[in-house]
Amino acid sequence: MPEQYRTLQGFRDILPDEQPYWRYFEKIAAEVAETYGYRRIETPTLEETAVFRKTSGEGTDVVEHEMYSFDDRADKEGRRQNIALRPEGTASVVRAYLEHGMFKLPQPVKLYYMSVPIFRHDKPQAGRYREHHQFGCEVLGEGDPAIDAEMIGLLHQVYTRSGLQRLRVHINSIGDQNCRPQYIQKLKEYYRPLLEDCCEDCQVRFVKNPLRLLDCKMPQDQPKIAAAPRITDNLCEPCREHFEAVQRFLEMYQVPYIVDKLIVRGLDYYTRTVFEVISEDNKLALNGGGRYDGLAEILGGQPTPGIGFGLGVERVIQEMKRRGIEPPTEEPTRAFVVYFGKEPKFKDAAIQVCAQLRHAGIKAEMSYGNRSNKAQMKQANNSGAVRAIIIGEDELAGGFVSVKNLQAEGMDTASKQAQVKREELIDYLCQHG
Ligand SMILES: [Zn+2]
Ligand SMILES: [Zn+2]
Repeated sequence: MPEQYRTLQGFRDILPDEQPYWRYFEKIAAEVAETYGYRRIETPTLEETAVFRKTSGEGTDVVEHEMYSFDDRADKEGRRQNIALRPEGTASVVRAYLEHGMFKLPQPVKLYYMSVPIFRHDKPQAGRYREHHQFGCEVLGEGDPAIDAEMIGLLHQVYTRSGLQRLRVHINSIGDQNCRPQYIQKLKEYYRPLLEDCCEDCQVRFVKNPLRLLDCKMPQDQPKIAAAPRITDNLCEPCREHFEAVQRFLEMYQVPYIVDKLIVRGLDYYTRTVFEVISEDNKLALNGGGRYDGLAEILGGQPTPGIGFGLGVERVIQEMKRRGIEPPTEEPTRAFVVYFGKEPKFKDAAIQVCAQLRHAGIKAEMSYGNRSNKAQMKQANNSGAVRAIIIGEDELAGGFVSVKNLQAEGMDTASKQAQVKREELIDYLCQHG
């Protein structure tokens, strides 16, 4: 027996039954993004590892442990490049913005990407995969708080139009290069005497990434977090004004939000607005995003304000299912063509009729494999098709087909079945459904 192949651990197939959820969500997300003036971009799945290493911050988990990176095959000169499967969506988009000189276009440049594969080599566990897909939006070249509010408004509209009500957006400001260093000093001073009593992770965070101290989920550290100084009380004047404007504009977009002073993003290039969308039922964070005014510079560009979010499509679909939201059903087969006769001319006619229907955009199916009349009618009935198109001896001789309504229970035989000329079949189906 040959080996049975299976997907790699942490990877999964998205089977046809699941596809309606995907198409439904993707259609809504694209429509909403385009309503807000965003244009679609696609970037390669593979990039130089440096693109992600620089933007994920060296020393973070994503870079150290979770990135799929490897040396490529050698080129003609024997050089090998270290390349990586995309571990997040933003860096590639900013790289593309710089590479294609999009900073010369009228600013801002608003971009979205749809269901792009994202790879992380983390430990497989329930509901987490090493490949997942993200819808995301990025705006580059504009620091106006109106952009922040607009993006959060867009995100909220994508969720609500997908049927996910009862959401709340949590927002915070984490300041900028001007005010954050002083705040971090303050935070460290506050934590220093408490550190002995902190969890191990927090001991590391204190040195490597103090903002993340506020992210700790260990019960022992919750009282410390609750009493810690807040960045929002330590913003410089421009940051404070920006944050107030974002909130005012969010009200205009009628987005239900609360200020959540515990949302932080640990990397230096993040600035000012950060946000998360939380499901009110189960307090599950659906996705997050934020402003990254320092990112373009890290990738070798001029200082360029930017903001973005990425959203895991699998997670949204899981939440849709949990809430019992059904995508629109697939279009049913309209016509099922059967042929009653063993000679090749019957099957030929069936194929011709099928082609005629499909060329006219009518979803049609036919029986294959020269089955018996009875077996073919059973197939037609089980297919969910509205009508069977029957081709037998009489039909072929007379240049017509018999159209049988498969969903007309209780009707008299005459209205159940009609004889229709081959050249009038499309018109007939358009009129009678
Ligand atoms: Zn801790
Ligand atoms: Zn500031």
